[in-house]
Amino acid sequence: MITTVLPTYNRAPLNFVKGEGSWVTEADGRRFLDMGAGIAVNVLGHAHPALVDALTTQANAIWHVSNLYQIPQQQALADKLVDASFADTVFFTNSGTESCELAVKMARKYWYEKGQPEKTDIIGFEGAFHGRSSAGIAAAGSEKMTKGFGPLLPGFKHVPWGDLDALQAAITETTAAVILEPVQGEGGIRPMEDADLRAVRAICDEAGVLLILDEVQCGVGRTGKLFAHEWAGITPDIMMVAKGIGGGFPLGAVLATEEAASGMVAGTHGSTYGGNPLACSVGNAVMDIVADPAFLAEVNRKSGLLRQKLEGLVAAHPDVFEAVRGTGLMLGLKCKAPQGNVLQAAYDADLITIPAADNVIRLLPALNITDEDINEALTRLDAAATAVEHSLEGQAQ
Ligand SMILES: *Cc1c(COP(=O)(O)O)cnc(C)c1O
Repeated sequence: MITTVLPTYNRAPLNFVKGEGSWVTEADGRRFLDMGAGIAVNVLGHAHPALVDALTTQANAIWHVSNLYQIPQQQALADKLVDASFADTVFFTNSGTESCELAVKMARKYWYEKGQPEKTDIIGFEGAFHGRSSAGIAAAGSEKMTKGFGPLLPGFKHVPWGDLDALQAAITETTAAVILEPVQGEGGIRPMEDADLRAVRAICDEAGVLLILDEVQCGVGRTGKLFAHEWAGITPDIMMVAKGIGGGFPLGAVLATEEAASGMVAGTHGSTYGGNPLACSVGNAVMDIVADPAFLAEVNRKSGLLRQKLEGLVAAHPDVFEAVRGTGLMLGLKCKAPQGNVLQAAYDADLITIPAADNVIRLLPALNITDEDINEALTRLDAAATAVEHSLEGQAQ
């Protein structure tokens, strides 16, 4: 018999009932160190006082008003995002995949209004993840996500990750945009080199196509800049944001230049919940903390600390791990042992990590994780790796 919750998830038998900072408590009382942050969502950890205050204050005032009316919290958050980024304008969504929907619509509408309606193709990269909507799965293109869900939204092409010659060759007179994650998350923490990102920007400029960056996972301070593309010194035309921007409250956004957004006039797009007062109150509180250069400097310092320790961990357990990858506090451990064994051994050590493609375990802690908690995470990862080694030895005998 089918489960009453549609059985689309492989859930661990863990039920977290309370969170504080980088720690969560299971129903049985066990305390877990959270190096996953709800897949890069809880950027300020659990129950951050400023976020709790923003949410409860707003909850006591008004929860929801339609986008038929003024929403000052939304206006304030848009102003902050525009001030802090390349963008001139922002549309609020509730999730990453909704941001993908609008990014695709915006790019196509742009060319339609420019009198080039044939420009509808979007070129993405293999290993990408852009969410589970029809546009999201078509943009990612992998068989795993698309099989059985046809007919797929047409107009998507894919080239191998980082293959800029293939990108160049795939661009035609019907290309509307290129879409990519500056750091692939689900794909296994695969950063695009800064030089390559600059080259992608140049290819787009030369061919006259829009660049859409999906910063749903790597944005909002995760890499140590507010947005990951800043490291390369380039700007996109359109950017998708979600996950971290709400700090745990469902919120997403599409940021765009005035030019790229020029087709999106009144009546062309909308969302019932997108940018609602509760979500935007929390989003404002997140931005007030995360966009501060001093906060981002701390993310970079902690990244260095965590990364250095992870390099030591990999060196100490060469049968379990192969390499450290990633940037900022978006780090991955490429495993030699099956990632499922590492994930389970970490759970057994009361440590939460997140699996990704390519046999990688992701570490995506709260951006305000303490040095003490980083040290504790390494102690637990070391214990988990030792347990995996013992189980591998057991198998070998
Ligand atoms: C999680 C993710 C999405 C999808 O976001 P949802 O909120 O789950 O719809 C899209 N792109 C990237 C890069 C993501 O990591």
